[in-house]
Amino acid sequence: MVTNPATGEQTARVPFAGIDEVDAAVAAAARAFESWSSMSLARRTQVLFTFREVLNAHRDEIAALITAEHGKVHSDALGEVARGLEVVELACGIPQLLKGESSTQVSTRVDVESIRQPLGVVAGITPFNFPAMVPLWMFPLAIACGNTFVLKPSEKDPSATARLVELAHEAGLPEGVLNLVHGDKVAVDRLLEHPDVAAVSFVGSTPIARYVHNTASAHGKRVQALGGAKNHMLVLPDANLDQAADAAVSAAYGSAGERCMAVSVVVAVDPIGDDLVARIAERARNLRIGPGTDPASEMGPLVTREHRDKVASYVPKAREQGAEVVVDGTDLVVAGHENGFFLGVSLLDKVTPEMDAYRDEIFGPVLSVVRVASYEEAITLINSSRWGNGTAIFTRDGGAARRFQLEVQAGMVGVNVPIPVPVGYHSFGGWKDSLFGDHHIYGTDGVRFYTRGKVITTRWPDPSDGGIDLGFPSNS
Ligand code: NAD
Repeated sequence: MVTNPATGEQTARVPFAGIDEVDAAVAAAARAFESWSSMSLARRTQVLFTFREVLNAHRDEIAALITAEHGKVHSDALGEVARGLEVVELACGIPQLLKGESSTQVSTRVDVESIRQPLGVVAGITPFNFPAMVPLWMFPLAIACGNTFVLKPSEKDPSATARLVELAHEAGLPEGVLNLVHGDKVAVDRLLEHPDVAAVSFVGSTPIARYVHNTASAHGKRVQALGGAKNHMLVLPDANLDQAADAAVSAAYGSAGERCMAVSVVVAVDPIGDDLVARIAERARNLRIGPGTDPASEMGPLVTREHRDKVASYVPKAREQGAEVVVDGTDLVVAGHENGFFLGVSLLDKVTPEMDAYRDEIFGPVLSVVRVASYEEAITLINSSRWGNGTAIFTRDGGAARRFQLEVQAGMVGVNVPIPVPVGYHSFGGWKDSLFGDHHIYGTDGVRFYTRGKVITTRWPDPSDGGIDLGFPSNS
């Protein structure tokens, strides 16, 4: 069931695929693989260039679908589409990215060539929070590499994803290359076990990422499974506190905190804690919360009532556990949208690592502040987290920033940048419980994930060559 989070009304029903439907999608992808993978790079990239144009022309429509089912404000949804387009643009340059390596005359009359080839059928399983961007992190690059794809979007907001698939076909993608199945655990489990699925890209919460990685690996598949996060933003005493407060508010409450790169913990180094908290609180209280379709709204509702209630429950729990609730957004009512899944923003101060608000990924507009005495205490805290997705440091001290970027245990680091999501031609991925598997997603890691290497050693003999030699081949 799909609801409009701003009104609470049901707007669509999602048919869940059973095993037969998943098998049919995989079979279609397997049938298409031979012709698609052997199609020339020129023709494959032509489809991607057209897809880029079609998607660009429909970016407003896709953003509206995201807002209607996810709830995020329209400008934020447009930003999501733009970040997804970056990966389509990267995929348009696949001939350059797939160029192999060669060495001439490694031995007498012997040449060596390394090439990369597609894997076959790849499955993609995506989360609710970026229904356009995350699928676009996956399938454009996977199909550009010559694979065929089966995509299983989130059942909470699948319409934007479904429209992307339609647009890819409007752009000339042949039948069977990109297939969509809606569903839940039944469909996912079939994809993880299916003998004709060669690889799985997953983005979602940590427990499911771990499960997907373990299950698909046990079935012999290549897997990249990106999980949840708890992203810390370290503010040193020499930072510009107004800029740091702006960044903290934008990164904590943007998209109602439903971003895997959201800042959920600010680590304030003494003596700036009081000053920084006051500046964050002032900004947080003035945020405009309302339906994502209203251009005046800066933050929309949460995705479902259940998720809204769970996020809200962390605020009284934090108070009971000893945190100071500086801003309490749990009572917010948006006039005219009383049945929407709105939650005001909350700011918790003097949070400690034992509290639930610190330990869990809340995935909503609740920002915790932890006070520490020194940089050393801060880095110990951050590196003790079980997650290691993104992190950021705010400072004017280049030496401290350099030390942090080398010492911190996280996959993506921002220096005075609160949400350091890499551009399309670098790769996105966390450490520790934020990613299971060896490859980050998109960028050059994405190309490596969606291809496998082959090395060809060639000799074109001279009439004078010949003779038997049982020794191990050595070069001369
Ligand atoms: P989720 O794990 O609940 O769902 C993700 C996908 O897995 C969906 O398609 C869902 O249908 C499927 N799924 C859910 N339960 C399953 C089960 N038991 N067995 C098999 N499949 C199952 O995640 P979500 O709530 O949709 O998304 C939010 C989470 O995703 C957050 O934890 C967030 O941090 C994370 N996320 C991470 C990144 C990243 O890049 N690391 C990006 C976006 C979101």
